[in-house]
Amino acid sequence: MKNRITLWGILLCLLAGLTGSGPALAHPIATGIITREQPQNAISIQSSTAAVDFPSKLTFNLVVNDDVNITDIRLRFTVDRDYFTSVFSESFVEFSPSTSVQTSWVMDMQKTGGLPPGSALNFWWAVKDASGRSFESTPQKVEFADNRFQWRNIKQNNITLYWYNGSDAFANQLLTTAQQALVRLESNTGATLLRPIRIYIYADSQDLKGSMIFPAEWTGGVAFTEYAIIAIGIAPSNLAWGENAIAHELTHLAVHQMTSNPYNELPVWLDEGLAVYNEGQPDPGMISALSKAISSKTLVSIRSLSSPFSAYTDAASTSYGESYSVVNYLITTYGQHKMLALLSTFQQGSAYDDAFKKVYGFDMDQLYALWKQKIGA
Ligand SMILES: [Zn+2]
Repeated sequence: MKNRITLWGILLCLLAGLTGSGPALAHPIATGIITREQPQNAISIQSSTAAVDFPSKLTFNLVVNDDVNITDIRLRFTVDRDYFTSVFSESFVEFSPSTSVQTSWVMDMQKTGGLPPGSALNFWWAVKDASGRSFESTPQKVEFADNRFQWRNIKQNNITLYWYNGSDAFANQLLTTAQQALVRLESNTGATLLRPIRIYIYADSQDLKGSMIFPAEWTGGVAFTEYAIIAIGIAPSNLAWGENAIAHELTHLAVHQMTSNPYNELPVWLDEGLAVYNEGQPDPGMISALSKAISSKTLVSIRSLSSPFSAYTDAASTSYGESYSVVNYLITTYGQHKMLALLSTFQQGSAYDDAFKKVYGFDMDQLYALWKQKIGA
């Protein structure tokens, strides 16, 4: 039980960390709006390739020729993830000016923070020469695949599940679990997946950690919401835990797709509360942590739970239990339609209290009071 609770603590941290500025573009050298001009000239790309060394680096290789010295080479790229503007990142490539240049640029994930398995980049080269001519190559796509394993996959509707350990029946069971979680989510909240997602099932948490640049000691699963990718370590012997984890992470992705906007994110308690609620059966450890907080009068206000939860296990499990309980109160008292209206309001970038007042007629402080009254706190 404790491991499980600890896990959610971690999931939260990772979720929070990855929905911000994003790993690959955390330190872009330069950004700009995509334009492409290709005047006639003698700059000619002989070869352009990308080599994947998962999870630590991506190496981009270029051979380019010209009839005068090549003086400036930049690698430009975009990462496939949710964006609200069309921007690319640009890296200056070091080389000696020449009519024939063979060079490369390495994306070191230790510096950029890493990318999830199966994420993809589009890249192209911008080259200038001594006569003032410039050239941009045609964009190419490279998938940052975790090629340490032989992945198999199964697909149903919007979900593709990748796995390499365990039988077909094991994978089918997990995919069925994911589909059932979606049905449950839609019937309780109206939320659903709007775009395809991918779920990578690692053999265990050790393999999962091996896929990450800075894994936390307790990493069990990660929702890369902006990439529409989930990575979880599930041993076939740990199926029940895995099913809950899939439902939890899948809910984060669906809720993200339903609410994503450039202005505001969901309050953390609502995001986590929905994910725990949609697991089906809430973790008994969280519920007992909540009961303890009620009897010792140490509940945390909903307003405080709008920010990332404590890194300490006990405090975090109380926060998860409380978030679950408030979401449960909202859904059972006011129904699916109101929850869907709330998510739609957040999708428009609404401030927290404005969204609650608009949909339910009360703000978060009043919600806290109503909920406490309901549970007898
Ligand atoms: Zn979560």
